Amino acid sequence: MSVRARAGIATANRVVVKVGSSSISGVNAGQIEPLVTALAEAHSNGTEIILVSSGAIATGMPYLNLDSRPTDLATQQAAAAVGQNVLIYRYQDSLDRYGIVAGQVLLTAGDLEDLTSRSNAKRAMERLLSLGILPIVNENDTVATHEIRFGDNDRLAALVAIMTHADALVLLSDVDAIYTRPPEEPGAERIDLVHAGEPLAGVEFGEAKRTGVGTGGASTKVSAALLAAARGTGVLVTSAAQVGAALHGTDVGTWFEPADEAVPAVADRIGS
Ligand code: GLU
Repeated sequence: MSVRARAGIATANRVVVKVGSSSISGVNAGQIEPLVTALAEAHSNGTEIILVSSGAIATGMPYLNLDSRPTDLATQQAAAAVGQNVLIYRYQDSLDRYGIVAGQVLLTAGDLEDLTSRSNAKRAMERLLSLGILPIVNENDTVATHEIRFGDNDRLAALVAIMTHADALVLLSDVDAIYTRPPEEPGAERIDLVHAGEPLAGVEFGEAKRTGVGTGGASTKVSAALLAAARGTGVLVTSAAQVGAALHGTDVGTWFEPADEAVPAVADRIGS
């Protein structure tokens, strides 16, 4: 059952949690432990958790002796190939504290729009969850580059939430909520709630960040949140530091209320 209000996240059956590159790599690699602690607590309370984690490129950079994010696509893909297994190792190492096993799932948005691939991915994901395994999803960067270019997995996370009929999607970044204008600007106010179907008129977003280790920003989060909410999955946008509070259903972040019914145009394109 889809969660109508953020408080319902605490007792949801299935939640997709997405974390961005800068929250769990480089100087923030130590943030994996508290993130995993919060996920493990929800898992032990009976909530099925799917983690969508970026960070392959950022984690791979030091292994390629790169001080900054590579600018060409082929080197980004090479860094992702090197970083992905290190990232999964770090997650598994941390999950071992709770006796939880991770399963790596590499997908593309195209896979989820293709009937056969989506059905294959869905079957595998359902089985992982029924076995008590925590799926960790990232874009398959060797064959697809959408999220490298446009959003640090925000859209992929929304498509995974729709495919798995998750009760809620939690999008984590370095900023604690969506604001009426870039949060560092004077007069920026936190948006607490976005009603179903509300267009968010008058909200100003900064440029999607391309200078750090990730590629997301408020606008890609809002697009992903509106996509999932239109398909009936409520979405909470908040910071990685607030993940525990978010999974307890506390009043943090920005909540995108789910629509009662799927918007047909989007539903037809993506299927169920
Ligand atoms: N799949 C990419 C990664 O894990 C996406 C994030 C990005 O653009 O850095 O690194």
